[in-house]
Amino acid sequence: MRMNIMAARTIAETVRTTLGPMGMDKMLVDSLGDVLVTNDGATIMREMDVKHPIAKMMIEVARTQEASVGDGTTTVVVMAGELLKEAEALIDLGIHPVVISKGYRMALERCLEIFEEIGVTISDDLPTLRAIALTTMTGKGVEKAKDHLSDIVVDAVRSVSDGEDGARRVDVNFIKTEKKEGAAVEDTELVRGVVLSKEKAHVSMPSTVLQAKIALVNSALEYKGKTVDAKISVTDPSQLKAFFQERVSVLKGIVAQVKKAGANVIFAEKGIDDYCVYLLAKEGILAVRRVRRSDMEMLAKATGATIVNNIDELDETSLGYAGLIEEKNIDGTMMVFVQECREPKAASILIRGGTKHIVDEVERVIEDCFGTLPAAILTRKVLAGGGSAEVELASRLRQFAEGVEGIERLGIAAFARALEVIPKALAENAGYNPLEILVEMQSLNAKMGSKVGFDAFTGKVKDLYEENVIEPLLVKKQAVISASELALMILRINDIIAATKLSLPIPEGMSAPGKMQ
Ligand code: ADP
Ligand code: MG
Repeated sequence: MRMNIMAARTIAETVRTTLGPMGMDKMLVDSLGDVLVTNDGATIMREMDVKHPIAKMMIEVARTQEASVGDGTTTVVVMAGELLKEAEALIDLGIHPVVISKGYRMALERCLEIFEEIGVTISDDLPTLRAIALTTMTGKGVEKAKDHLSDIVVDAVRSVSDGEDGARRVDVNFIKTEKKEGAAVEDTELVRGVVLSKEKAHVSMPSTVLQAKIALVNSALEYKGKTVDAKISVTDPSQLKAFFQERVSVLKGIVAQVKKAGANVIFAEKGIDDYCVYLLAKEGILAVRRVRRSDMEMLAKATGATIVNNIDELDETSLGYAGLIEEKNIDGTMMVFVQECREPKAASILIRGGTKHIVDEVERVIEDCFGTLPAAILTRKVLAGGGSAEVELASRLRQFAEGVEGIERLGIAAFARALEVIPKALAENAGYNPLEILVEMQSLNAKMGSKVGFDAFTGKVKDLYEENVIEPLLVKKQAVISASELALMILRINDIIAATKLSLPIPEGMSAPGKMQ
């Protein structure tokens, strides 16, 4: 039964040292020798080659956290590991896992109430959102360019938000990222519109199109005639000629259809026959082929075009509009910029960095912000970071435990202790004595409340709103929920294993699974 807890704690220990702004990076090396350096908990766990089912379960939960709120994955795993460590200590005292689980569940419920009480309401003004983005980015190896990147993500996320209070919407699907190494991270830029890592199909096509009328087609623009399923046996030259003539007339028909619809730009998801490309170029139409499905969808959203399945369906009403389309050379890679779109909400971030490792890490950091910024904009509630929420929750849980009669109170107290692993790990990773910092936090928290946190950069315990270290309440709340559920799940599995093992002799050196007191 200990094996499950052990597996979970091992994963937790592995990522614990990456927590917070001063956390260390991990270098992951796969069996082929490919290297990935990251500080992102979710990425580390995704790439770790784990076999143990419990470890897999933890990784799954971390992934869910990442997908739902974009951040807090390391927190979930570290917290869950600590909840299990505390549970193990109680099991050692002879307390049954079921009782511990009950205490944990009571503690979680109480935490959710406390969250409602300690969340601070914000307006989604620029400085606040910037502070949230900065806190998300802290410690992710983009330190130097943090200000620049946070300006960009805040700008991008705001551009895809609309609606007033209550009916607010943030659609980050309107934002896409493209990566290109070979420049500084500070050169990362926001493009209002869609950037495609593609080039025009023919050199003589225009590189710039003003007032673009855009066709989006997801079928191949080619002659599909008899060549597909049959071998043509040519017995006399006129047959060959007829075949070519048919092909030419089909391809001419395609181009005529594009012209008739009034398009001067065409994006195709599949291929375009070279002869067709030549004809399009002759007509001065800009064509781009083999555009990714997701990019086609983004183009449709941004330009208002309808993607047609068949060239025959193309007409004026299916075209989209953009004020400016340009093909540009970005450090040796041709890219197509679709700007001044009909739908101004669409935005692209062209991520730059010295090497592939760097642009990948920048992309991960930006994507974290696509979780945290909407969480803040939609709920308008934040908390101070730096372990402040955990210390507050722990202190209030201890008060709550006082009033609980049953033995579950030990579970509640254990839950409170487990939460404190976060401030302790933040302090430890920054090179401070975790217990000293925790005690200092507890005493200042008693005087000043939940805004008191640990600032990893200065080592000071203070009001972190002053330092702009703030996080969306939703991220922390979700992290506590996920961590508790994970721990509860693992404790339940222990129960099942314990039940079958009860009939077996207990190996030496292992204590019996806890019995009800
Ligand atoms: P996660 O994957 O859980 O988001 P991170 O490595 O991103 O893990 O660390 C997040 C933690 O770092 C949060 O608890 C946050 O409050 C804390 N944090 C962020 N900035 C600071 C800071 N300046 N000082 C101390 N802690 C910070
Ligand atoms: Mg984070």
